[in-house]
Amino acid sequence: MEYNYDDQNIFAKILRGEIPNKTAFENDHALAFHDINPQAPVHVLVIPKGPYMSLDHFARDASADEQVGFFAAVAAVCEKFDLGQGFRGISNTRTHGVQEVPHYHMHILGGRPLGRMLDA
Ligand code: 5GP
Repeated sequence: MEYNYDDQNIFAKILRGEIPNKTAFENDHALAFHDINPQAPVHVLVIPKGPYMSLDHFARDASADEQVGFFAAVAAVCEKFDLGQGFRGISNTRTHGVQEVPHYHMHILGGRPLGRMLDA
C-alpha cells in the first residue's frame, strides 16, 4: 500500500498552528483536541504529529517512540476526562470507513452510554 500524505489537510494546518484548536493534551509526538462537532459529552481527537494518513499507515510506518507517544496521549485523555465508565476509540479509515480528514486520528468518545458499535 502506498500512502501519499497531503500536508494541506486540516489537521496538518492545526499542527502548524494555522488553524486554532481547543487542546486537551500534548506531548512530543501527539496532540489531542476537542472535535469541532462533538457527538458525545467527551469527543476528543488524538493525532500523531508525524505525517501519517490512517491507522494502518501509522501502525506500519511510525517509529516506536511515535507509537508510544501517541498511546500515552490516548491514556492521558482518558484520565483527564474521567472515562472510567468506558468510552469508544474510533479510527475511521478511507472510503469504506468514511474518513473525512486524511491525517490519522483516533476519536475518543465518552461521557454517556454510546449504544451498539454500528448502525448498519
Ligand atoms: P473523520 O470522519 O475523518 O473520522 O473525522 C474527522 C473529524 O474532524 C470530524 O468529527 C469533524 O467534526 C472534525 N473536524 C473537522 N474539521 C475540524 C476542525 O477544523 N477542528 C476540529 N477541532 N475538528 C474538526
